[in-house]
Amino acid sequence: MAFLPYARQEISDGDVTAVVTALRAALITQGPTVDRFEKALAEFAGADFAVAFNSCTAALHAAYAAAGVGPGASVLTSPNTFVATANAALYLGGSVRFTDIDPETGLMDADDVDDHAEASVRVVAPVHFGGEVAPMEAIAAVAEARQWRVVEDAAHAIGATYHTSDGRDHRVGACAHSDMCCFSFHPAKQLTTGEGGAVTTNDPALYARLKRFRSHGITRDAAEMTHNDGPWYYEQLELGYNYRLTDFQCALGLSQLERLPGWLEARARVAGWYDARVAAMPGVSRLIRPRWSRGAHHLYVIRVDPARRRTVYDGLLAAGIGANVHYIPVYRQPYYQQHGFARTNRPGAEAYYASAITVPVFPAMTESDVERVVGVVARSLEGTTR
Ligand SMILES: *Cc1c(COP(=O)(O)O)cnc(C)c1O
Repeated sequence: MAFLPYARQEISDGDVTAVVTALRAALITQGPTVDRFEKALAEFAGADFAVAFNSCTAALHAAYAAAGVGPGASVLTSPNTFVATANAALYLGGSVRFTDIDPETGLMDADDVDDHAEASVRVVAPVHFGGEVAPMEAIAAVAEARQWRVVEDAAHAIGATYHTSDGRDHRVGACAHSDMCCFSFHPAKQLTTGEGGAVTTNDPALYARLKRFRSHGITRDAAEMTHNDGPWYYEQLELGYNYRLTDFQCALGLSQLERLPGWLEARARVAGWYDARVAAMPGVSRLIRPRWSRGAHHLYVIRVDPARRRTVYDGLLAAGIGANVHYIPVYRQPYYQQHGFARTNRPGAEAYYASAITVPVFPAMTESDVERVVGVVARSLEGTTR
């Protein structure tokens, strides 16, 4: 049987046409398609501004810089994330602190956030793990009391929404409880530009800062310049990078964005097929979706007895199913251990990591694909893998 990957992008003839058309335009980078993609993203997310980057890693780097992370300042984040969420703080000479997670949800434990309120913390960076929304209301309350900036890592969560105690619903990316929100357009995520990312914000000053950071710290806006030598003139006001996304990538993103709502429905359907079967399987549970979250179903994580995790994982791989484990707690990485994290043991993250297996979810999956995955899990647990 064909290999079933844990994630798979959807590329249509319309996407190909959009990219080819963009490649024949006068400007294939720094052109008008970047602005169009940014406007469409901002509108989709419900934010005033979006700034496109060539990865979510670059987006996080820029967002932390705009939030004032640097030497002596730290970012407080979840250890259940891709290393980029933490690394971006180190790029700036800042440091990282890890909260624990709730092992039942995989999300930052809101009750643990204030316990790590060291003086150095400048930014709290919740991660919408698997596409479910972190406890934004609670995190924002601590951040407000502590005067921290909030930067969401929404690499998994484009299209997710959440409910707050005042009875309102919010879109991830609208920044109702954050200063900035970062998205990824890597092919494993819901929508792709090959590589790519974006930051949304409602703050004009942060918006200006993000745009400068993306392009060498340079501005051409006379209002930002110290003086003006003439029409050719620009000024570098800070140290920035080349983190730009090309116009043909933005054309792909625009074309993909039209189909995102349908994909989110398809992902929810796949998750529902899993839910029904996992509920009836002894020895297998799934991550709990918090009551406030209407997630984007980026990952489907099952949990098994840690003593049998390896057997189930091997069984899935042997059956041609792209199982995965998201994530190895970041503080366990040798680089982080070398930098003083050896003893940063977070019991919730450890318990979660020992038991977790990610099984495939992508929009084109069928109910029989789900049957196949669940069947292999069941047989692996019975010790009769074929
Ligand atoms: C994918 C991912 C990133 C990094 O995104 P890139 O676009 O690959 O740089 C950051 N955080 C999380 C949680 C991710 O899953």
